[in-house]
Amino acid sequence: MADASGLSQVVAAIDTRDNFLITAHIHPDGDSVGSMLALAWALERLGKRVQRVLAERVPLSCQTLPGVEKIANPSMFPPGTVFPNAIVLDCGDLDRIGSTQRLFGPSTFIILVDHHLNPRSLGHVSWFRPEAAATGEMVYDLIQALGVPLNHTAATCLYTSILTDTGGFRYSNTTPRVVEMAAALLRLGVDGPEAARQAFETRSLEATRLLAEVLRTLQVSADGRLAYLILTREMLRKYHTDASETEGFVNYARALVGVEIAALFREEEEDGRLQVRVSLRSRGHFNVHTLAAAFGGGGHAKAAGCTLPGPLSEAVPQVLSKAESLLNGGGVFD
Ligand code: 5GP
Ligand code: MN
Repeated sequence: MADASGLSQVVAAIDTRDNFLITAHIHPDGDSVGSMLALAWALERLGKRVQRVLAERVPLSCQTLPGVEKIANPSMFPPGTVFPNAIVLDCGDLDRIGSTQRLFGPSTFIILVDHHLNPRSLGHVSWFRPEAAATGEMVYDLIQALGVPLNHTAATCLYTSILTDTGGFRYSNTTPRVVEMAAALLRLGVDGPEAARQAFETRSLEATRLLAEVLRTLQVSADGRLAYLILTREMLRKYHTDASETEGFVNYARALVGVEIAALFREEEEDGRLQVRVSLRSRGHFNVHTLAAAFGGGGHAKAAGCTLPGPLSEAVPQVLSKAESLLNGGGVFD
């Protein structure tokens, strides 16, 4: 495999070190959380000290995963805490780990493991495999390379990683290899239907009412090739929900017949300033990574995102006009 050196460097770094922070990107999803929990479990099997840390709340899809209760928030560590080693998963941009950055110092040895296109950061050791369906697929290989036999606990976490990043084995990243891995995980006793229910068919009453309101914001443009939804802070407040319960909302826009680009614009406040997080999905051949990258974001060809400063009234038109111009010429289609 062309990336074998990245994997062996990660193995060597883990073997020779101890006391790890394991983290992943903000707006965590099933892949990032499942990968973190599985790798943390494997490192503990090797007798290593590990802290699982995420800057933002774990999404519903992961709230029943084994070990999820061990995930700490960066604010729980005394000021000045710096880890000697950090493993950053499902994230090729160190700016995307949010406030977990405060647990990094100049002496922190950083290991990056990621499957996004065009990672922006390099660790002291980096292993990038954009052709992997999920970071969970890479962590599966990593755990094997570390010589730790998988058990039911780790298998459950890795199954959720793969299941969520392939959209339940529906997206174009669903390779024979990843389906074979899923089969191996099922043989270890993973409850597949339960993982699918938790990932795709579990929603609180409030979040369901919120979804109904978000769906009312649906707009289409570019002759129906572009569809978008809006989620304001006021809506989140009204239904006492937070962003971790809105995973999958954007898929309702993508499901529209004729749509090529679907977007969900979510307003949020960061350090007293308004910003807009954009989730982008492709229904067909359009590469939404190029659209996200135009605003400093990234992701994959079929699922990407970016964050723009300012209120919705400023951010939305910028993204729509870029999307329309890419759709009408100059955009990347596969
Ligand atoms: P989501 O819409 O689910 O937040 O993100 C979709 C995909 O794009 C995920 O793989 C996520 O990691 C990636 N992504 C979302 N926002 C950003 C961003 O601002 N920068 C980069 N590099 N990737 C992003
Ligand atoms: Mn991922």
